[in-house]
Amino acid sequence: MAGEIREITQTFERISAHSHIRGLGLDENLRAKDVADGLVGQKRAREAAGVIVRLIKSGKMAGRGILMAGPPGTGKTAIAVAISKELGKDIPFVQVSASEFYSAEMKKTEALIQAMRKAIGVRIRETRTVLEGEVVGLDYNMVPNPYNPTQKIPESATLTLATKDEKRTFSVGGRLAMQFFTQGIEVGDVIVIDKETGRIGKLGRSEKAKKKYDLGDDEVVPVPSGKVEKEKEFTYVVTLHDLDEANARRTSIFSLFSPPSREIDNEVREAVDEQVKRLVEEGRAELVPGVLFIDETHLMDIELFAFMNRAMESEMAPIIILASNRGFSRIRGTDIVAPHGIPLDLLDRLLIITTEPYSREEIKTIIEIRAAESGIMLSNEAMEKLTDIGEKTSLRYAVQLLAPAYEFAKMRNSGKVELEDVERAASIFADVSQSSAYLKKWEEKMLGM
Ligand code: ATP
Repeated sequence: MAGEIREITQTFERISAHSHIRGLGLDENLRAKDVADGLVGQKRAREAAGVIVRLIKSGKMAGRGILMAGPPGTGKTAIAVAISKELGKDIPFVQVSASEFYSAEMKKTEALIQAMRKAIGVRIRETRTVLEGEVVGLDYNMVPNPYNPTQKIPESATLTLATKDEKRTFSVGGRLAMQFFTQGIEVGDVIVIDKETGRIGKLGRSEKAKKKYDLGDDEVVPVPSGKVEKEKEFTYVVTLHDLDEANARRTSIFSLFSPPSREIDNEVREAVDEQVKRLVEEGRAELVPGVLFIDETHLMDIELFAFMNRAMESEMAPIIILASNRGFSRIRGTDIVAPHGIPLDLLDRLLIITTEPYSREEIKTIIEIRAAESGIMLSNEAMEKLTDIGEKTSLRYAVQLLAPAYEFAKMRNSGKVELEDVERAASIFADVSQSSAYLKKWEEKMLGM
């Protein structure tokens, strides 16, 4: 469990650095606007990415991949995120560094296949019988908690739900009443209850209740119309990897004791694929291939490349975007030197997009956008200083200094970051080249060199 949570937060952090990106910012002729959808400059790369999105949508990228080549910090990840945004709101985006394929926990090919299956979504449609409406009455029958007599808990409840057209009252048993209680459901909430599982979802506060009490910051929603009890269609996306894990757990009686990131049997994957194909054939699900972005591609070895080459041909393959900042290098596991350290047979399948270093103006605009996204105000001097830092060291470092500089501003009781806050943050946090040079100096000193 801890492993799963860690994994989710990692993905979340990685993507949140790019949360300002909403798309590629192209016009209808696939020309890049200067600044649009959160993206700045890098026009040629964005236009190329736009063509690729069209190819993907028309099914013409099957068996092929993308290589983003460019120096570090030139927006390779940013553009890959934008591609996934263009493909759809709920499509999976998975970012890994090739170094993560090598671990003691599992075989490298297993790590790669898991990453690929995390990047393939299955959009499942389900029709369920629900009770839906505004809570207009909720009375609990409270009794002492048998495990803690100082507390009272609901034994049952009477619930009245209303739509615009109907009002119905239900007697609710202990388990459901407890759910209402712990979720803090109250009169004026618009809720939906799954009749079969008893799961409760809060949709928001009703318009009427909001006007009367005007409390909290819950979303305001209209009161539903029609019957309280109705059939409702739900759609949600799970990944093939989620299904693999759920099925592996079901088939193994030892699952409770085994670590979460263990290897998954091939039979389990085959069973999941069969199940998904059946759902698709029955019109109850559809496959949504997402994006697998692999950074530091030169760290992949010949075996991983061969495995990926084969996997790309499968009908259940995600869109693979490799990123490289190396020119010619040795293909890991061989003596062969090749462009980007990638075998030629794979290179043949890749459409290549190059990214270029940013101009000062572009760096400034990107920092401005990131500051606005995080709700941070900057003085002109602070902005200029961060742009200097972005130009001289790296854009990533400049963007990362925003948050600590803002903390210093808050300590001065100011909502605006000034030059001194940026200087203070830059004096205590190092960028990568500073920190590595620092350690090198120490090593030399220790060795008496
Ligand atoms: P690369 O993958 O090439 O190393 P990156 O996309 O990871 O580059 P960073 O150097 O990490 O870029 O970028 C720092 C921040 O700047 C991130 O928040 C990123 O989203 C943003 N950024 C990078 N390029 C652009 C761009 N062209 N437009 C808008 N934001 C960008």
